[in-house]
Amino acid sequence: MTAKLILGTEIREEILKEVEEEVKTIKAKHGAVPGLVTILVGQNPASVSYVTLKIQTANRLGFKEIQDNQPEDISEKDLLALIERYNNDDSIHGVLVQLPLPKHIDEKKVLNAIDPDKDVDGFHPVNVGRLMIGGSEVKFPPCTPAGIQEMIVRSGVETSGAEVVVVGRSNIVGKPIANMMLQKGPGANSTVTIVHTRTKDMASHCKRADILIVAAGVPGLVKPEWIKPGACVIDVGVNRVGEKVSEKTGKKVAILRGDVDFDAAKEIAGYITPVPGGVGPMTITMLMKNTLRSLKFKLGIA
Ligand code: NAP
Repeated sequence: MTAKLILGTEIREEILKEVEEEVKTIKAKHGAVPGLVTILVGQNPASVSYVTLKIQTANRLGFKEIQDNQPEDISEKDLLALIERYNNDDSIHGVLVQLPLPKHIDEKKVLNAIDPDKDVDGFHPVNVGRLMIGGSEVKFPPCTPAGIQEMIVRSGVETSGAEVVVVGRSNIVGKPIANMMLQKGPGANSTVTIVHTRTKDMASHCKRADILIVAAGVPGLVKPEWIKPGACVIDVGVNRVGEKVSEKTGKKVAILRGDVDFDAAKEIAGYITPVPGGVGPMTITMLMKNTLRSLKFKLGIA
C-alpha cells in the first residue's frame, strides 16, 4: 500500500483562503479587521524568522498587524506594562510574546499576563482549562494541535470510535491533542492513549492505533512494524539531522526528519504526513484562524 499524503502546505492554502474571505466579509459588514501584535524581545535568529512568517501571513490576510521589537535588556516590569497596554487596546485581538525570552524575565509570569481573551496561542491556564472542559467553552485551541485535528478531519479520516495513540505528553502538543481527540463532538469522540518515556511496551500501543500522532522529537522513533495497516500517521516531529546546500538558493539549509521512518511507514499506513510540509505549516495558519475567532467573539458573531 502507498499511503495518501496529508499535506499541510495544501490544507494551509485552503484554510487561509477561508480566513481571507471571512475577513473581507466582516470588514464590509462591521468595519473591523483582526488585530495581531507580536512582541519580540531581542533578535534570536530562529525567532526573527518565525515572527517574519507570522507577519507576512497576517498581512496577506488583511489583518492589522504590529511587530513590536523590544531590546534584549527590557525589564520584566516594562514588558508586563507593554502587554497590559495591548490587553487594553480595542483594535488588538491577539497578543503574542515570542519565546524564548531572556533569562532575567520570568516566562510564565509574562505569558500569564496576556488577557486570556486575547491569548490566541491558547497557552494561558484559563484557555487550557477551557480546552479541557470542551464544547462551547473552548475559545482558542492551541495552534499545532488544532492544525493536527484539521488535517485529520479535512482528509476524511473517521475519528469517532477510533483508537488514537499520541506519542509524547508535552503541554504544547501531546496533552492538548489527546484532550481534543477525546472530547464529545465532531472531529473527536476517539478513544485516546498517551505514551511517553515511562510507557512499557510502546510498540504494542502504537500497533493498536487507527490514528497515530507522534510528537517526541526523536528522529525515526516510530518503526514501520509499529504501524497498523491503513492507519493515519501524523508526524509532528521536526528534527535537524544535518545540513545540505539548497539547489534553489545555493545556501546551507537544515536536513529535517520526522519522528517516523517515513519511507517505510508510507508503504503500510493509509494516510501519512511528510516532514517537512506536513504539520509544520499548520501552526501559523491556525494562529490566524484563532485571531479571527477572537475578533468574532468580540463582535458577538463567533
Ligand atoms: P517535548 O516538550 O520535548 O516533549 C516530547 C515528549 O515526547 C515528552 O513527553 C517525552 O516523554 C516524549 N518522548 C521523548 N522521547 C521519547 C521516547 N524515546 N519514547 C517515548 N516518548 C518519548 O517536545 P514537543 O514540544 O512536544 O515537540 C515534539 C516534536 O514536535 C519536536 O520535534 C518539535 O520540534 C516538534 N513540533 C513541531 C511543531 C510544528 O510542526 N508546528 C510544533 C511543536 C513541536 P517524557 O514526558 O516522558 O519525557
